[in-house]
Amino acid sequence: MPELPEVETVRRSLERAILGARVERAALHRADVLTGDAGPDGLLVGARIASLARHGKHMAIVADDGRALEIHLGMSGAVRCEAARDAESLGPWEASEHVHAAWLLRASSGARVLMRFSDPRRFGGLWTFPSEAALRAERWSRLGPDALTIGAEDLAAGLRGARRALKAVLLDQTVIAGVGNIYADESLFAARLSPVRSARGVRGEEVGRLRDAIVATLCRAVEAGGSTLRDGGYADAAGAEGAYQASHAVYGRGGETCRECGRRLRTAVVGGRTTVWCARCQAAPARRRPVG
Ligand SMILES: [Zn+2]
Repeated sequence: MPELPEVETVRRSLERAILGARVERAALHRADVLTGDAGPDGLLVGARIASLARHGKHMAIVADDGRALEIHLGMSGAVRCEAARDAESLGPWEASEHVHAAWLLRASSGARVLMRFSDPRRFGGLWTFPSEAALRAERWSRLGPDALTIGAEDLAAGLRGARRALKAVLLDQTVIAGVGNIYADESLFAARLSPVRSARGVRGEEVGRLRDAIVATLCRAVEAGGSTLRDGGYADAAGAEGAYQASHAVYGRGGETCRECGRRLRTAVVGGRTTVWCARCQAAPARRRPVG
């Protein structure tokens, strides 16, 4: 499922494709993927694209008159842009039964762009808002701080109140928004922290180390265009796949050897998700025993 680096890569590719363009037409093929105003206003018809916003794994197109359209990729959602052959064409829908909505945009250069939203598994969807403020208040205010900009204080507060494994707390979008299974495992390896230790026990210098590891891991993944897994098929709005999967130190490598120390990587289900780590590089701290 797309996590912060994949969503940010899609956001940037959409900026390149449609920023400044005017929405000429829109069509909704499957009404149940949309929440809110399903009419032309909700779908941004008539507006010029002013910005592309993101918080965690959530992304939105914001128009110059304030209207906002969230596109959530969920598990299998994708947004693709291509040059439109003519002004009338919004299809053909027959090309894929999983294309749920389409937009025809006209760039300032005069070129027309066809943008399509598809989502075979339909865990994603579209949400329409009269303003970006409404979007943030109604949808994004439930999320924790964005993982790229979270401060150590906020992360420490999220960990302190949690009676769960550290990995499980990193997956909690109300604590830190944007980290999913791939980047939780990779960040914990980078921070040399065990995913199975209690979140409450992570304090002081370890919190700073974890925060820095999360930000550094996500930044490297964004630079690589995210991770495209064999079974995932994620790509940006231009159809380009990510390259970060080649850099995964632990995710998807259960049973293989640690690239740092050579020990066989462990696998367990933590927080409901398959988790891979090195028990030597990410050893839990030894319990302190009272002296004497
Ligand atoms: Zn190791």
